[in-house]
Amino acid sequence: MSDERRRYLAQQVELGGAEVILETALVRREAAAGAPAPSPPSPSSPVSPDPKWKKGAPPIPGPGVYIEPPAPTLLSGNALSELTTLDAVAERIRTTHCCGLCPGRTNAVPGEGNPSAQLMFIGEGPGATEDTLGRPFVGQAGKLLDEIIQAIGLRREDVYITNIVKCRPPQNRKPLPDEIAACMPYLHRQIALIRPKVIVALGGTAGEALLDARKSLGELRGKVHSYGGIPLVVTYHPAALLRNPNWKKPTWDDVRIARQLLDR
Ligand code: URA
Repeated sequence: MSDERRRYLAQQVELGGAEVILETALVRREAAAGAPAPSPPSPSSPVSPDPKWKKGAPPIPGPGVYIEPPAPTLLSGNALSELTTLDAVAERIRTTHCCGLCPGRTNAVPGEGNPSAQLMFIGEGPGATEDTLGRPFVGQAGKLLDEIIQAIGLRREDVYITNIVKCRPPQNRKPLPDEIAACMPYLHRQIALIRPKVIVALGGTAGEALLDARKSLGELRGKVHSYGGIPLVVTYHPAALLRNPNWKKPTWDDVRIARQLLDR
């Protein structure tokens, strides 16, 4: 047995049973190189009394920041509050230029998923693949997000996925404060229409923007924040996770906290 294989197996034992689900998913993803992963059972099918993700899941942590979502603001002279469907919001996003990012886009990326999702994932902003396809999280980071969703017993189509900014920042740089401020009303409206039970912010940019807090990811993790009463958990961005596998374990803990909040 190679040293690398021995180290890998030792890591699996160290991680424990539940983490192996995510770990295995990541390994399978590498091996399958694009082959579609088998669908997990539908959440509507009988729920196992002891789902695998629960084994070793951390306790739900205490409260963090409370933020009251702003009243829907006017954008380009049109009240977003008048838009009563996600499709209408998406259409507005696709047909409006609200900041300096919009002229450079191939496609706006409003978001996608179940309009009645109980769980909402919010990333930073579209990357190159997302800009090309007009869909969120469909590149490498998106594949990892799909694995994470499956590892907590859900399917991508059960949740809603979107970003803080809806147009790709050049060279994938972090969106600037004025770009975030211009785009946030769309997100506030999307959340108001979906009314998810739990929100997961992927990365510090999403956490800071949603909570209007100037805090590091380290400060934002490990707490259950409140977005107007909706529990909000902040975790690592999947792209960061691809760069640093040491963050897989804490991410797995964070998403299992979010998953437990769904069952509360
Ligand atoms: N990174 C994000 O933050 N969002 C995407 O949609 C893709 C990558």
